[in-house]
Amino acid sequence: MDCIFCDIVEGKAKAEILYENELIISFLDIRPMNYGHSLVIPKRHYESFLEIPPDELGVLIIGVQTVFKAMSESIKPDGINIISNNGSAAGQSVPHFHFHIIPRFHSDEFKFRINLKSYKGNLRKDFAEKIRTCLP
Ligand code: 5GP
Ligand code: ZN
Repeated sequence: MDCIFCDIVEGKAKAEILYENELIISFLDIRPMNYGHSLVIPKRHYESFLEIPPDELGVLIIGVQTVFKAMSESIKPDGINIISNNGSAAGQSVPHFHFHIIPRFHSDEFKFRINLKSYKGNLRKDFAEKIRTCLP
């Protein structure tokens, strides 16, 4: 299976590696939204968030916090986005699960432009009930 992130994990493809341990690795995104934009990934190949076993997910999220802290202290951005795109409809282009950690500045020239909806009638209740039926 061809996976650029697996190639980075295995050292077959180059990346600017920031941090790693037995289960996760963090490296600079090759096309940063701002300089320092980083990725944190599990070393094992999982395409989706749901596939990651809880113990690995715990290590992964602590890795996100570790890189977040280093980014805060080193780059001193005005804010930081933690983003994960899951599925092509959500903008996932590399099918190996990853978190983006993106330094943000008040002076950014980009904004997330989203056309926010309003709930009408019973729709809010209906959606909450639909989701609750699948929760433990
Ligand atoms: P996605 O679009 O799946 O949420 O994010 C994938 C990210 O991986 C993109 O931001 C893209 O720039 C980055 N990326 C894709 N190929 C490479 C690569 O070969 N090396 C590095 N460092 N980043 C990559
Ligand atoms: Zn992979």
